[in-house]
Amino acid sequence: RAKEKGRGEWEFFKGEMNEFKVERLTMESFLRHAISKDELSLYFQPQISLDDGKVIALEALVRWNHPRLGIVSPGLFIPLAEETGLIGHIGRWVLNEACRQLKKWHETINSELSISVNVSGRQFQKLDFVYEVKEALQRSKIDPRFLHLELTESMMVENVQYGINIMRELKELGIKISIDDFGTGYSSLSYLKDFPIDILKIDQSFIRNLSKSDHNSTDAAIVRAIITMCKGLSVTALAEGVETKQQLLVLKDYGCDHVQGFFIGKPVCAAEVENLFHTYHTKSS
Ligand code: C2E
Ligand code: MG
Ligand code: MG
Ligand code: MG
Repeated sequence: RAKEKGRGEWEFFKGEMNEFKVERLTMESFLRHAISKDELSLYFQPQISLDDGKVIALEALVRWNHPRLGIVSPGLFIPLAEETGLIGHIGRWVLNEACRQLKKWHETINSELSISVNVSGRQFQKLDFVYEVKEALQRSKIDPRFLHLELTESMMVENVQYGINIMRELKELGIKISIDDFGTGYSSLSYLKDFPIDILKIDQSFIRNLSKSDHNSTDAAIVRAIITMCKGLSVTALAEGVETKQQLLVLKDYGCDHVQGFFIGKPVCAAEVENLFHTYHTKSS
C-alpha cells in the first residue's frame, strides 16, 4: 500500500535505543496513536539571561517514547507528522501541555518564568491556529506574555503577508514571538522589519565554531552582525547551541542577551526541572 501511494516502501527510522526498518505506514499508524497511548512527553531546556544568569524561559521539546522503537527524535517524527497532517493533533497537545506545565511552575518555582513552544509550518498555516493558541491560554490561565512561540523564517516564504497577519493576531493575544534557527532560512532581511518579533534565535551552526582566539572568523562576523541588528530593532538576541564556556564568554563579549545550550543545561523531563532550578541558582549565586 505504501508503494501504491508512491511514498517509498521502506524507510529507516533510528531511535536512540534501537535501529530497525519500519514500514512508513506502520510508523504513521504508531504515530497516530502516540497521544492516546500517552507516549508523548515534553522535555525542557533553559534559556538564560547573560546579564544575571537567571533562567528566563524553558523551551519545550517534544519526545516520543514508543515501546518498540524507543525514543524517536522529533527531527524524524515532526516531518512525518507534518506530511501526514498528524501535526495538528500533536501541535495542539504540545501547546496545551506546555501551558499547563508552566501554570504549575508559576505556582511552585517562579512566577516570572516563560515557556517557549516550537510551531511547525503546517500548524502555523492552519486556519484555526490563532484560536488554538487563545484556547490554550484560556484553559491554562497563564498570562499571555509568558508564552513564546518559536516560528521559523521558512514558514513565511510561501505567503509573507499571510504570515505577518497571523503574527500580528498572535501579538494581539499578548504573547511573544521568537524566530528559531535564524540565518538558516531564505527570507529576506527586509521582511524582518515587518515581522513583529520579540526574540531572534541565532542558529547553533553559527555558534559552534566561536572561539576567544578568533574574532575574525566568518561565523564571528555573522554573529556580531545579527546581535547589532537585534539591538537596532529592539529585539532580544538569543544564541542557541552553546556548548562551551568559551562560546558563552565570546557571546557575552559581543553583547548577546540570552543563551541556550548544553553548557547551560540539556533538555530534561518535567520532574527534573525543579531540581535543575535549585542546582542552577545555587551554582550561579
Ligand atoms: P530547535 O527548536 O532548534 O531545538 C533545538 C534542538 O537542539 C533540540 O533538539 C535541542 O535538544 C538541541 N540542542 C540544544 N542545545 C544544544 C547544544 O548545545 N548542542 C547541540 N548539538 N544541540 C543542542 P531536539 O529536541 O532533538 O529537537 C530538534 C528539532 O525538532 C527542534 O529544533 C524543533 O525544530 C523540532 N521540535 C522539537 N520539539 C518540537 C515540538 O514540540 N513541535 C515542533 N513543531 N517541533 C519541535
Ligand atoms: Mg526551537
Ligand atoms: Mg533552533
Ligand atoms: Mg528547529
